[in-house]
Amino acid sequence: MLNCKDTTKLLSQQQDESLSFRKRVALRFHLMMCSGCRNYNKQIDFIHKACQRFSGKN
Ligand SMILES: [Zn+2]
Repeated sequence: MLNCKDTTKLLSQQQDESLSFRKRVALRFHLMMCSGCRNYNKQIDFIHKACQRFSGKN
C-alpha cells in the first residue's frame, strides 16, 4: 500500500517514464481513496501538458 509521499513521487515519475503494471495499479488504488493525491495528480498533469505545449512539442 502506497502512502501519499510515495504516490506523489510516482505521479511525477510517471510523467517522464512509464511505470510497471504493479506500480500503476497501486497508484490508481491510492488515488481512488485519497482526494489529496487526486488533486495533486490533476495539477501535475495540467502542468505537464502546459509545458509540452509551450516547449513546442507536438
Ligand atoms: Zn494520498
